[in-house]
Amino acid sequence: PKKQLIVVTPTYNRALQAYFLNRLSQALRLVPQPILWIVVEMNSASLETSEILRKTGVMYRHLVCKKNMTNVKDRGVHQRNTALEHIEHHKLDGIVYFADDDNIYSLELFENLREISRFGTWPVAMLAPSKNKAILEGPVCNRSLVIGWHTNEKSKRLRRFHVDMSGFAFNSTILWDHRRWHRPTSDPIRQRDTVKEGFQETTFIEQVVEDESQMEAVPYDCSRIMSWHLHLEARNFAYPRGWQLQKNLDVV
Ligand code: UDP
Repeated sequence: PKKQLIVVTPTYNRALQAYFLNRLSQALRLVPQPILWIVVEMNSASLETSEILRKTGVMYRHLVCKKNMTNVKDRGVHQRNTALEHIEHHKLDGIVYFADDDNIYSLELFENLREISRFGTWPVAMLAPSKNKAILEGPVCNRSLVIGWHTNEKSKRLRRFHVDMSGFAFNSTILWDHRRWHRPTSDPIRQRDTVKEGFQETTFIEQVVEDESQMEAVPYDCSRIMSWHLHLEARNFAYPRGWQLQKNLDVV
């Protein structure tokens, strides 16, 4: 039988949400079963998100994170933790992948996730801040081994692992099966809400693996770009009066 994929997506209502969720759900719909899409919102389940999920044709769970926001720029941390708790509580067996709603994913990526045994990582292409250059972030590989990192220079010396949120996935049993994976601690594995922006991924990964030797290159040699992180979020746009969408779905 094929390994289950557990795709975790934090989301929130905003101008491009319908565009993002439709695009992601249509990609997931093309992925062979079994796949479970865990979509998590803050405070309450919005009608906008529920409606898109109902139409997807993908098996999904729509969760709500009730935690009081301590940090305004939370960026999905508590929502991903809600999903991790759910996976752990229900002992959902599969490969866990944090797929933010605004990234682009190829089908090939989802095929490759099924080859992961413990923890897999791959390079992600991003738009550089200048917006006219693409850069890579993620592992440099030799066959199935991770031997170094592509990184954006500004944080080169500080982060232990230079991986984007959409550039790694892991076996869910890591969350509870300490003996099998020889994990040193029995603390629950969580995203930390106190870490600086840009450090979310590495602090999470440091809880899951000790070093590069416990990582798998996905696929062999990390030879493919399978996901893209563009930061397309609309900011500082000026609209003619009356052209704005009042909500993320309705044209008024
Ligand atoms: N997100 C969220 N609530 C927020 C901010 C972000 O649910 O207040 C989600 C967002 O929908 C996306 C993920 O968290 O799925 C990462 O969002 P962010 O805007 O940080 O993306 P980035 O700028 O890293 O692409």
